[in-house]
Amino acid sequence: MSRIYLDHNASTPVRPEVLEAMLPYFGEHFGNASSAHAFGQEAKGAIEEARARVAALLNATPAEIVLTSGGTESDNLGVIGGARALPMKGRHVIVSAIEHDAVRHAADQLEREGFTVTRAAPNTRGVVEPETIAGAIRPDTALVSVMAANNETGVVQPVAEIGAVCAERGVAFHVDAVQAAGKIPIDVQAWRATLATIAGHKFYGPKGAGALYVKRGFKPTPLQHGGDHEKGRRAGTENVPGIVGLGKACELAQRELSESAARISRLRDRLEAGIMERIPNVVRHGDGAPRVPNTSHLSIVGAEGEHVILTLDMKGIAVSSGAACKAGSSHPSHVLLAMGVEREIAQSAVRFSLGRCTTDAEIDRVLEVLPGIIAKLRAASPTAAS
Ligand SMILES: *Cc1c(COP(=O)(O)O)cnc(C)c1O
Repeated sequence: MSRIYLDHNASTPVRPEVLEAMLPYFGEHFGNASSAHAFGQEAKGAIEEARARVAALLNATPAEIVLTSGGTESDNLGVIGGARALPMKGRHVIVSAIEHDAVRHAADQLEREGFTVTRAAPNTRGVVEPETIAGAIRPDTALVSVMAANNETGVVQPVAEIGAVCAERGVAFHVDAVQAAGKIPIDVQAWRATLATIAGHKFYGPKGAGALYVKRGFKPTPLQHGGDHEKGRRAGTENVPGIVGLGKACELAQRELSESAARISRLRDRLEAGIMERIPNVVRHGDGAPRVPNTSHLSIVGAEGEHVILTLDMKGIAVSSGAACKAGSSHPSHVLLAMGVEREIAQSAVRFSLGRCTTDAEIDRVLEVLPGIIAKLRAASPTAAS
């Protein structure tokens, strides 16, 4: 039985073209990019080529791209480094209540340092409204952080409108665009972002490689101290193979975006319609809001999400409840709770996230096995809703 992977929001397979581009940098091209000799210059050239490709995907200039170890580091440098760099603005920060832990816990750290943090709630559809952010901005607000697309619900956030509010009020704006990359266009100019995060492994690049866009003229306080790498913004010898892979993934994402989006959203819509047709009492999260093409987050009421995931796994189908870091814990999602979803319904959430290799046959297989699994789980559950 071949396995089916529907957890692309947690991670994606490295594309063959990406792997091929990376391989020489594990081998013959091993130089340190800081070295003056030919080995070093070869590595440096590869890094700069990758930086240009990252910049092109984000609609930025290469000098505005800081290469990092991934989404978590970029979010930390953006939120913590960004806020610490603005002491003259004040010590108030706004983050949305639906952010990834990399932003949420970065904000918690600022709070421990004496910053005041406002956690802005989304509406019931999972959208963080620009008016909510506008209402939360104070004279001492230094920075706002709102993600471009939510990793659990797939809901696309109005970051251009929020960016306009921030620009008008003179507040720095960080966007976690990790779940946007490869799914919807990223445009740091249109978003009026000061800072923006992407991570290679969420769009067919390698793990441990990411980038932070830093608007020209802004300088986040570095979190890491050492050499003068990345123009003093991020010390440490560069992960050359990872950076080359990230660059290649950006190039491919930019080239194939619209074509793959149309195909994937058709499959996602078929999966959703099929589930809702075959199984009663299913709640679709983010209903009525714009969503990225690949994500479906459903609560199958009366069946514990964690049980659904484990049973599907035994049948060779990989899905998730939402945040990958939550595996093994049955805490309901902070995203759903912030949207006002009842605890019990939040506990029954299952996220299907499709990818570029997902097929119609795979969707058919899920639609074939899921109803039986749910019927059994509901029959065994004391709170079964139907
Ligand atoms: C995965 C993810 C991150 C963290 O990126 P890593 O590269 O895994 O550290 C941050 N934000 C969002 C929205 C994510 O989905």
